Amino acid sequence: MGLVKPLPYGRQSIDDDDVAAVTAVLRGDWLTQGPTVAEFERALAEITGARYVVAVSNGTAALHLAALAAGVNPGDAAITSTITFVASANCVRYAGGTPFFADVDPRTALVSLPSLEEHVDRLVRAGRPPKAIVPVDMTGSVPDLPRVQEIAKRAGAVVIEDAAHALGSTYRHDGTTYRAGGCAHATLAILSFHPVKHLTTGEGGAITTNDKALYDELLELRSHGITREPSRLERNDGPWYYEQRALGFNYRITDLQCALGLSQAKKLPRFVARRRALASLYDRAFTDLAEHLTPLSVPAGVDSAYHLYVVRLRARPGENQGSVAERRKALFSGLRERQIFPQVHYIPVHTQPDFRRAGLGSGSFPGAEEYYAGCLSLPMFPAMEDDDVERVVAALSELVVR
Ligand SMILES: *Cc1c(COP(=O)(O)O)cnc(C)c1O
Repeated sequence: MGLVKPLPYGRQSIDDDDVAAVTAVLRGDWLTQGPTVAEFERALAEITGARYVVAVSNGTAALHLAALAAGVNPGDAAITSTITFVASANCVRYAGGTPFFADVDPRTALVSLPSLEEHVDRLVRAGRPPKAIVPVDMTGSVPDLPRVQEIAKRAGAVVIEDAAHALGSTYRHDGTTYRAGGCAHATLAILSFHPVKHLTTGEGGAITTNDKALYDELLELRSHGITREPSRLERNDGPWYYEQRALGFNYRITDLQCALGLSQAKKLPRFVARRRALASLYDRAFTDLAEHLTPLSVPAGVDSAYHLYVVRLRARPGENQGSVAERRKALFSGLRERQIFPQVHYIPVHTQPDFRRAGLGSGSFPGAEEYYAGCLSLPMFPAMEDDDVERVVAALSELVVR
């Protein structure tokens, strides 16, 4: 067993050209606040199709600033789905607001539109219309953003697309293809460049928008709320002068990180193509195991960039959810014994102790519970070989019949 190659659920691909790109910046004049940041932002604008991009220190910082730009103030409500990384909800709390949750469709792990509508309507009736809705592009799939935007508009909410899983994903609407993170059906979107994501800067993130005023605000919030822009100053004491216009943060990303990001961005089409090829290998293999395992379904019109590849363990006739969850746990451990390291994305956020203690996340989320009981994220990263997929599938077919 000691010689078997470990297969994590995700990992970065770093080549010599990435190392050279970072080294070149290290030998230059700017380690941070230099030209490479803007260059990386232009590359991201090109990739997503969004007009403006603000690169920041991580995806969570991007969510925090997006929540502030969306106008989430202390006491305000906002909604995300309960199957997501905790940061999608925490951003509302950072801004002093209260996160509420919508359920997911267990077949896709995407926000359930009827549930979203129900929770938005309930908040509107209670006189507390949500300031923001945060739809999550789970695994690289994309929810029906045009419909989410309609629901948001009716309630006066701003849509912040959490596109951390979806760089390179597209979706179709009315015969046109749109890119995740492009803000065609969202006011703001966020990306993450954590090592398991589609491209990495070590830690890193970005906010995209087509709104110039929000862009200007985000630039300031990223760096202490400070501006030197003459047209934005209230007074001007001289050439040294700057003003703090709002309470901002140091959420800057470095030129070192952006050099890595730029180098990685060149390879994004290849990375995404490889993820899609791996996904179709898995899809084909799982048709033979259809009575035990079902891949997560991707809505029609969506071309996922597959940040994750999730399979769901099917309930046996008459089997309850607790028993499915037990069998999933056994699969998880069995894979680990074979040096295959799956993951579970995600534990429903409303069940997290810190949310519970804060009195957040009450309600019933049967779709999320069903999904969580049986989901398993399998290895999915560009450097995986076809043989690796076969190894994972062989292990699963052996384990799943037990
Ligand atoms: C990774 C991720 C984030 C946060 O990104 P960090 O860069 O790790 O802060 C936010 N939302 C989702 C859905 C993510 O997967």
